Amino acid sequence: MAEFSQAELLHKVLNTAQREGDERVRAIVGRIVGDLFRAIDDLDIRPEEFWAAVGWANKAGAGNEFGLITAGLGLDRLLDIRQDEAERARGMGGGTERAIEGPLYVAGAPLSQGEARLDGDPEQGRVLFMEGRVTDVGGRPLAGAVVDVWHANTRGEYSHFDGGRQQPYNLRRRIVTDADGAYRYRTLIPSGYGVPEGSATGDLLGRLGRHGRRPAHIHYFVSAEGFRTLTTQLNIPGDTYLDDDYAFATRDGLVIGLERHADPAQLAARGLSEPFFTSRFDFALPRA
Ligand code: FE
Repeated sequence: MAEFSQAELLHKVLNTAQREGDERVRAIVGRIVGDLFRAIDDLDIRPEEFWAAVGWANKAGAGNEFGLITAGLGLDRLLDIRQDEAERARGMGGGTERAIEGPLYVAGAPLSQGEARLDGDPEQGRVLFMEGRVTDVGGRPLAGAVVDVWHANTRGEYSHFDGGRQQPYNLRRRIVTDADGAYRYRTLIPSGYGVPEGSATGDLLGRLGRHGRRPAHIHYFVSAEGFRTLTTQLNIPGDTYLDDDYAFATRDGLVIGLERHADPAQLAARGLSEPFFTSRFDFALPRA
């Protein structure tokens, strides 16, 4: 029999009469495709609109854009909200706020003990000396924790995602905390950035009347044996898009303070000719 209703069609798509396949996948695909069937019906989506959307999705896939799109549609932040709620319900709160990972992490950055310099390419920018400690939620230092940090350069570009304009792992390092749980690094304050011009992501956001800009930020994974790994971002203060991030990643507790230093003696001590900045941020991890 090859004539069937919408409901019968969905059953055939999901192969619900059989016990073969993966039930979890069947449940999730069934919900999403069923909702899509209803949306096409309820909104009377026309074939030309449907096929335009398929073309858009193909373009997004070809450009590896889905990590940008999920952030822009709030799905990354939604997962964070759900994890925050789940941890609060289990009484696990108290650690540093999490923020979205984004799609631009690269594993295997150079590892160093206690401190690192992140910038390796010749680049003009505002020098930042960052330091702090990794502790448990009670403030006890965690020695041997790993601070895995990555951020954009002063043009808002990430190494490994800019067509090779930066050296491998530029502005990406892993720093092991010392006996006091302390880490420190030197880098250049990053710039914000936006989704690429002419991208499928930009097209979608434009049709929603939105921009695709992110404020300047520094990404982190902070991990220690026996503790829940923290995925987060620290924001640079004063950015135009601080409270208007297209990826919804800003958290109130994650905007750092920046102290500017222009004293000639201090500059000389650091071997610098331009004013520099210092900041401190401590990360607190809940137990796993
Ligand atoms: Fe980023």
